[in-house]
Amino acid sequence: MTTTRFAPSPTGYIHVGNLRTALMNYLIARKAGGTFILRIDDTDPERSKEEYVDAIKQDLEWLGLHWDRVERQSDRLDRYAEAADKLREMGRFYEAFETPTELDLKRKKQLNMGKPPVYDRAALNLSDAEKEALRAERGNGVWRFKLDHERIEWNDGILGDISIDAASVSDPVLIRGDGQVLYTIASVVDDTEMGVTDVVRGSDHVTNTATQIQIIEALGGTCPRFAHHSLLTGPQGEALSKRLGTLALRDLREQGVQPMALLSLMARLGSSDPVELRSEMAELIDGFDITRFGAAPTKFDVQDLFPLTAKHLQSLPLADVADAVADAGVPTEVAEPFWAMARENITTLADLKGWWELCRDGAEPLIADEDREFIAEAIALLPEGPFDGETWGTWTKDVKEATGRKGKGLFMPLRKALTGMERGPEMAALLPLLQVIRARG
Ligand code: GLU
Repeated sequence: MTTTRFAPSPTGYIHVGNLRTALMNYLIARKAGGTFILRIDDTDPERSKEEYVDAIKQDLEWLGLHWDRVERQSDRLDRYAEAADKLREMGRFYEAFETPTELDLKRKKQLNMGKPPVYDRAALNLSDAEKEALRAERGNGVWRFKLDHERIEWNDGILGDISIDAASVSDPVLIRGDGQVLYTIASVVDDTEMGVTDVVRGSDHVTNTATQIQIIEALGGTCPRFAHHSLLTGPQGEALSKRLGTLALRDLREQGVQPMALLSLMARLGSSDPVELRSEMAELIDGFDITRFGAAPTKFDVQDLFPLTAKHLQSLPLADVADAVADAGVPTEVAEPFWAMARENITTLADLKGWWELCRDGAEPLIADEDREFIAEAIALLPEGPFDGETWGTWTKDVKEATGRKGKGLFMPLRKALTGMERGPEMAALLPLLQVIRARG
């Protein structure tokens, strides 16, 4: 059965880049009727925070990316220790004692000599006595996985055929000197034991995948299908890594971005299919095809989310936005006509408040000197209330007859006098809601 996972480290809020990973894994699982696991990669006790675990769950729930179960790596440390023992017994695991400074020096020397900065495996030559002495001096060493120096190949769901020479990769450290298990092995053990069939993640993980394939094979597991999506860049192609912190999902939510707008964009961005606003998750699931995605960096512009949000809101019935309409201060009796008037004139729900204030308090009239008389005449012709959808039509007809004005010369001064703006909602829909005039009428 298809099983995927989204595996964030709870060391911060998740952002649009993480969302891409989460969404792709979610859509694959749902399309296949499989399982979507939320895996919390919390093997780093210092950097992992419970508040981020909660925040990740809230963000996914906000988007409707529901998971079938949660797994936590911190609950599974014994499983990783067992796997480490197995690798040790197999002779695929060795202790190394270089300090970060020593490693850095080695790398610099290699680069100076025009060689790739790959760990030189000096630790493999240490005798037991030398290791004892180093341990006494420096404490426990790190544990590295000994790669087989051959080509590692896989057919990537997005990148196609990949072939990496294992000799060009350093033997990965899987356990730190202080005993902390690192993601590379924890992830392999989890993917294998949880029957993960498909792993989609960012292309920054390609080298990890190469080493993980060898670890999976050493432990006797079955490799999942791997796919690596491209990384997001800013609208100009600039690196987004530093700005991702400001593109946290909760910030977008605060800015009024609607989940379906965000999901519709992220499910298509970087693929050969056009971005189209979808109203239901089911449509995104149906239309998702990972093979449509390309390897080139994907441009992301946060501004694209606002027209999609506006379009989505326009399509909603009052029932879906009743809370926001009430929060804007709109009384229930006029909620229906207010929403009908406002929905085409907002970008986010936060804009409702301004329209309601206009209805409730009126606006500072905008009247050009040459229109003063005309406006006075028009106001005198305003019928008695209550106003309805017909009022604007009948009133402006009367004003036209009385003043001889027509077209823009008729409508624009009236709009500006009543709303203080040159543009805005349909006047026919707005007029019945203009409480000030209503009170006068
Ligand atoms: N915790 C890892 C990360 O956030 C997971 C990577 C993976 O999907 O394997 O980068």
